[in-house]
Amino acid sequence: GGRPAHPRWVRVNTLKTTVDEQLETTFRGYEVVPTVQDVMAAPQGAAGNAEKILCLDGNIPNLIAVPLGTEVTKSEAYKSGALILQDKASCFPAYLLDPQPEDGDVADTCAAPGNKTTHLASIMVERCLNPTKAGDKKSRIHAFEKDKNRAKTLERMVKTAGSDRITTIHQGQDFLKVDPRAAAYQRVGALLLDPSCSGSGIVGRDDMPELHLPELPSSATNNHKKKDTKKDSKKRKRSETSEESKPLPVIVDDDGTTTTLSSEKDLKTRIEALATFQLALLLHAFAFPAARKITYSTCSIYAGENEHVVLRALASKIAKQRGWRILARGRQVGGMREWPVRGDIDACEGDSEVAEGCVRANRDDGKGVMGFF
Ligand code: SAM
Repeated sequence: GGRPAHPRWVRVNTLKTTVDEQLETTFRGYEVVPTVQDVMAAPQGAAGNAEKILCLDGNIPNLIAVPLGTEVTKSEAYKSGALILQDKASCFPAYLLDPQPEDGDVADTCAAPGNKTTHLASIMVERCLNPTKAGDKKSRIHAFEKDKNRAKTLERMVKTAGSDRITTIHQGQDFLKVDPRAAAYQRVGALLLDPSCSGSGIVGRDDMPELHLPELPSSATNNHKKKDTKKDSKKRKRSETSEESKPLPVIVDDDGTTTTLSSEKDLKTRIEALATFQLALLLHAFAFPAARKITYSTCSIYAGENEHVVLRALASKIAKQRGWRILARGRQVGGMREWPVRGDIDACEGDSEVAEGCVRANRDDGKGVMGFF
């Protein structure tokens, strides 16, 4: 029992700074320890009093773990967009999408608040996919966000992170309504799909201002939705984390409200509604004429939103027509080769190729990550 250990993950935004520069400034005087387990073992202390240690992540480049209680948000680097709070697992999709020159433009289909958009931007600029010299072919990111308010947040984050020159934001644009044959998207070779989900993998903490929270589209269970008082939500978070592995019928929304489902049946209905949308998104992405690679991710722990969606997508007519197949990219891309957790073989109905092609993160396995697919 007890709350699973978690560090604070900090992504160094290479559009604005470097790891070395951050070690000399924001993290000056910090002891560099070898593993995230060392970071998690450190006494946390009150806010601002955490031990000054950090580790450089071995799987994701430019990612640092510090003990919870380290005050990152007060630093100049955070305020200027040089540091971004982003869970390690939430860094997997952009890194695994691995944009290359031959991929042309990249689409981030469900983009707000922009953690992954800005991560993609930093990778693409590092790789000189958007050179400043006039006349060069420049790869761009098309970032779609259906919700107008969240699109504003996305716009702010993209600007603060210095990603704006490479990113076109399509505010209020439902990706499902985008015409794949439109002239503007003929060069889209890679797509990142990070749709709304149940959020069941999120590590619920008041002191983690991580922006990666899912949104719940209206539907089935709206009638059960109510605003939590701060006290209620604290109480729930505590009881949630004390039952670590048992999936609870509680869904966390963007703005911190929670949807309490009154039964397992409600949960099932909810997951099915989400999965229908998630599958539609994947099938729509398959239709982009120049598309050669797609990552699909959620911060859900449920197979219904994860492996099952992938299986259904691969079995679809359009997947067969266009030759979409699953690849074990986790075995091929840089530091991800060292990450051991794959898709659930039972959830993949025994299909080991699909299980190998999926990457999971579990929040209770001592690696300090959130639940993620
Ligand atoms: N990728 C984001 C990040 O890393 O910061 C988090 C994305 S969040 C899980 C899902 C987002 O998709 C929400 O902001 C939601 O409003 C948006 N969304 C939901 N349905 C959409 C659709 N059909 N088209 C475009 N955006 C959509």
